[in-house]
Amino acid sequence: MSSRIFQCTCQKCGAEFEFTGDYEKFNEFLDSKNFACPSGHTESRSPRAFVKVVKMSEPEAIVEWKPAEGKNYVDVLDALTVRIKGMQIDHLGSGLYIDRRTLKKYDYEEDAKGNRHYFEIPA
Ligand SMILES: [Zn+2]
Repeated sequence: MSSRIFQCTCQKCGAEFEFTGDYEKFNEFLDSKNFACPSGHTESRSPRAFVKVVKMSEPEAIVEWKPAEGKNYVDVLDALTVRIKGMQIDHLGSGLYIDRRTLKKYDYEEDAKGNRHYFEIPA
């Protein structure tokens, strides 16, 4: 898994907190029906209405990286691959990319040698 640290602030009370997990998990969290702020208040709206991402770290390297089953790996940094697939790749920051044509997002897993293995984030 491609674990990142998301530094967030609550826009209602200003509390700062961190979320650790992959981008997919973080989006699941943002799509929750309720938001329990670490400072104590709970809201019956999704965290998207309250949480502001201040900073997103790059994922940590995976010592013994192996392709995960069911993941669609695409080398979005390879110009030839991108051209053949007709992708319009754009950087979102911290190594996350989006294909502007399909709006699919791509995250990566880094192996011990520093190679990035990009995969499609399931919608
Ligand atoms: Zn709060």
